[in-house]
Amino acid sequence: MPVKIGIPRALLYYYFYPLWKGFFEALGVEVVLSSKTTKAILDKGIKQSVDEACLPVKLFFGHVLDLKDRVDYVFIPRLVSVERKAYICPKFMGLPDMIRHNIVGLPTIIDVTVNMSRKEKNLYKSFVEAGRFFTCNPLAIRRAYHKGLEELERFNRLNQLGFLPNEAMDYMEKGPTVQNHSPRGDGGITIALIGHGYNIYDTYISMNVIEKLREMDVRVVTPDNLTGSIIEEMSDELPKRMFWTLGKRMIGSAFHFMRSDSIDGIIHVASFGCGPDSFTGEIIERRLRRRGTLPFLNLVIDEHSGEAGIITRLEAFVDMIRWRRAAQ
Ligand code: SF4
Repeated sequence: MPVKIGIPRALLYYYFYPLWKGFFEALGVEVVLSSKTTKAILDKGIKQSVDEACLPVKLFFGHVLDLKDRVDYVFIPRLVSVERKAYICPKFMGLPDMIRHNIVGLPTIIDVTVNMSRKEKNLYKSFVEAGRFFTCNPLAIRRAYHKGLEELERFNRLNQLGFLPNEAMDYMEKGPTVQNHSPRGDGGITIALIGHGYNIYDTYISMNVIEKLREMDVRVVTPDNLTGSIIEEMSDELPKRMFWTLGKRMIGSAFHFMRSDSIDGIIHVASFGCGPDSFTGEIIERRLRRRGTLPFLNLVIDEHSGEAGIITRLEAFVDMIRWRRAAQ
């Protein structure tokens, strides 16, 4: 029986799962993904985590609990930086410790440190460390690492073609039976949905905002549909360089979308209790107000958010865009 490694379907899963899966599978390890978020998973996560944690971190706890008794290892990398000269939220750095100290009876946690702030090559070192849990063969680890990178590139290309991450992953698993839901140039309303992947693509905590917009005949685009160079270039418009990778993604993409003729409105999704989200939302809103061009909606989600309230706000926002269009 192959060794099993669990990957929680939360946080940076939405950005890096194809890399992690490609790597571990190439080493002959069976990858087990936690179930899709449900109320039970979220409730367990809330119960087990510290009160001060933001919603996505609480949810991560729930996903680890979902995997706990089904795997030999859990992969919880200690993420410090995922690109040169930039960092991600410090909560990611402390994640393996938070999990270890709050959940008993866990399988072995693989908590290799990923810190690419000085050298991108450091990513390889982290994978060597992770690979050593399963093989002593450096060549096998190198091959597996390249396989992971290939998968990640394929995933990013699909996103740039208009697939959203969940759809791109389905496409990679099941082939071209999955419909690309974000066709270009359909002439309808297009809304840019700006938020962390772990908020906007988790259908439970986002209350399936993407599907709700699509049901209103709205085409949805997100930061993941843009290339890194567009995001980088647009975020350079800030007077000071932004050194938070995820905040930069949101601001750079919002600046790009607010200049695009094909975007009719911007929705920013923030988590309650998230410091970085509170200022990225503010920066985007101020810039939009100054330009005075596009409608903007700020949605803050937490464990108590009610679906009816979200639907009402989305409907009002979409109606307002339609009236605006009709009046032009
Ligand atoms: S960026 Fe915000 S939502 Fe994400 S982990 Fe940090 S505090 Fe939580």
